[in-house]
Amino acid sequence: MSEVLIVGSVAYDGLKTPYGSTPRTLGGAATYSSLASSLYAKTHIVGVVGEDFHKKDLALLKAKKIGLDGLARAKGKTFFWKGFYKKEDMNIAYTLKTDLNVFATFDPKIPEKDRKIPFLFLANIHPALQYRVTQQMKRPKFILLDTMNLWINIARKELLKVMGKVDLMVLNDQEVKLLTGEAHLKQAARAILKMGPKRVIVKKGEHGAMLIGPEGTFLAPAMPLDRVVDPTGAGDTFAGGFIGYLARQGKVTLDSLKRSIVVGSLTASFTVQELGVKGVAGLSLAKVRARAKEFYRFASLPPVKL
Ligand code: AMP
Repeated sequence: MSEVLIVGSVAYDGLKTPYGSTPRTLGGAATYSSLASSLYAKTHIVGVVGEDFHKKDLALLKAKKIGLDGLARAKGKTFFWKGFYKKEDMNIAYTLKTDLNVFATFDPKIPEKDRKIPFLFLANIHPALQYRVTQQMKRPKFILLDTMNLWINIARKELLKVMGKVDLMVLNDQEVKLLTGEAHLKQAARAILKMGPKRVIVKKGEHGAMLIGPEGTFLAPAMPLDRVVDPTGAGDTFAGGFIGYLARQGKVTLDSLKRSIVVGSLTASFTVQELGVKGVAGLSLAKVRARAKEFYRFASLPPVKL
């Protein structure tokens, strides 16, 4: 089984959804994705927290056996993000505040022993930091890249530079349109491939995800849920579950990519059922296995005779 290295934000979030709210709770792209990935493979984080980072939050990451040698503690406050969602479309996160705090001066340093880790996830953070991480790694087998609308708008040049380094980029339907100007999903995905990544996954929230790459195209449905409480971290959990399960399988083929998409979607379905990281933090392989059974029952297509 291979290991996973994740670079991204470790944060406190202020959240307001139609079904719950909190002024401050553990969040961040690296947090959600490492909690998800650690279910399937040994996972390490590279990031930074401030002096206000709580002992109990550190204890949670430690309890999941997440490697924390690359998690620096700096003077100042932990990254803070505040956002809300509207009932009409819970797939869109509206940002009210982004306080970079300790991330403003962060210079990622990958511990020497982690530089050979084969599966690298560049989770959401400034693309210049993502690029610096790729420069320190020793020829990873697979690099997954995520980003967000903020960086597409203010750091496009840096984003394009890191896009040229990756095996797969994951975006939601709005990000893909913002980055390429293409409204049609398949054309937008093709335009992404021309920008550098070898493959792309376009996430369509509750409508599932589509993979396009040299091995072929794959459409995966999402697990239908009765209620979404908080969509925060769904994308990060998907990506973390995806790369963790890919590392567990060890090889990159169309089949292993497809299975990883299924596992990513199943894992993310738990995140959105609770506020903050609670859903993914309380997850076990047994719970994912049980949900997988349910998922396969309704997701398979019957053959037709024509
Ligand atoms: P998502 O999976 O897209 O819902 O990611 C949500 C997480 O992204 C939250 O926990 C935030 O802390 C984090 N986040 C929001 N804005 C940024 C940003 N500009 N850079 C890095 N992480 C962010």
